[in-house]
Amino acid sequence: MAKDLENEARHRALNRIREARTQHVHGVQEWMAKITSGDRTALAQAISLVESTKAEDRATAEALLKRAAEKAGHALRYGITGVPGAGKSTWIEAAGIDLISRGHRVAVLAVDPSSHRTGGSLLGDKTRMSDLSLHPDAFVRPSPSGRTLGGVAEATAEVAVLCEAAGFDRILIETVGVGQSETEVRHMTDVFVLLLIPGGGDGIQGIKRGILEWADAVWVNKADGGPERMAAAQSALSVYQGALSLLAAPEDGAPPLFGTGSALNGEQVHALIDALEARLAEARRNGNLQARRSRQWRDSAEALLAAEALRQVRNHPKFAALWKRLQEESAHSQILPMEQVRVLLKHLD
Ligand code: GDP
Repeated sequence: MAKDLENEARHRALNRIREARTQHVHGVQEWMAKITSGDRTALAQAISLVESTKAEDRATAEALLKRAAEKAGHALRYGITGVPGAGKSTWIEAAGIDLISRGHRVAVLAVDPSSHRTGGSLLGDKTRMSDLSLHPDAFVRPSPSGRTLGGVAEATAEVAVLCEAAGFDRILIETVGVGQSETEVRHMTDVFVLLLIPGGGDGIQGIKRGILEWADAVWVNKADGGPERMAAAQSALSVYQGALSLLAAPEDGAPPLFGTGSALNGEQVHALIDALEARLAEARRNGNLQARRSRQWRDSAEALLAAEALRQVRNHPKFAALWKRLQEESAHSQILPMEQVRVLLKHLD
């Protein structure tokens, strides 16, 4: 008798879970339908969910992303990097308006691993990109802050997928802050634009050497305000060109585009977008775009794997005690780091 009751209770519980799952799937379907039909509120809500740090939001977020991914893949992603003050936001505003005038729909996202910017950044981005953020064919999203699951860059890549599903076919991703963000953005974009300014002291202006190597376009901004400033921009460009000629060719073999111009008055922005769009079209034709994306997926998966493996090791019930003991022992007898790892992994199975 007791067994029967138990079975029935289990059966009922299972049914409830099944029902909840079906509702959940319907909910996601409806949500996605709203997003693809251009409902901005639905898109904004989906983005908040994907950026959420709550573990319980993750299942719905992933269900939504899976559906979004089915509709994504056609958009092209621009990465824009440069030191603070180089003119990234100003350039994105000009480039965004230019892309819209070509019939595209533009989403602007930011990667900010330092994540200092919270509510206020929304206002910051919106005022800085005032024309673009008011445009019906644009969507300007401030940088996510505080997400820990998978990291801020991963959240940005996921938000890009949602934006694609919402019909935005050019995604401009800006690096904010310094440090990791250039690498992160490079791993999620189809072209990578490096903005520089004339007269940055040592010439390279704190830009890491690797970034110069990765750039698909190197553009010296603020070439405006008279012949002297234009000449300064040209001469800075020559320095960068010289530096780059000493480095190896980028992965897909295409040399970077070089230029000077002004994001503020739009000078040469159109020409640069022309060249980048032509390059992207060619990369699509010859398979380089697909190859680049495959590499990026592999790199992202590897980075996630490393983060996940580390998380699992740290969450192992024996980890904390073992680690503490190893550190204490090491303080006395200097156990090599590699040896510490070996001992640790052996004890954690
Ligand atoms: P970000 O920090 O790289 O995003 O730089 P911003 O786009 O916020 O620009 C920093 C400052 O430089 C702002 O005051 C802009 O108005 C100015 N600025 C940006 N682009 C240009 C340009 O092409 N010419 C001039 N003269 N000023 C610019």
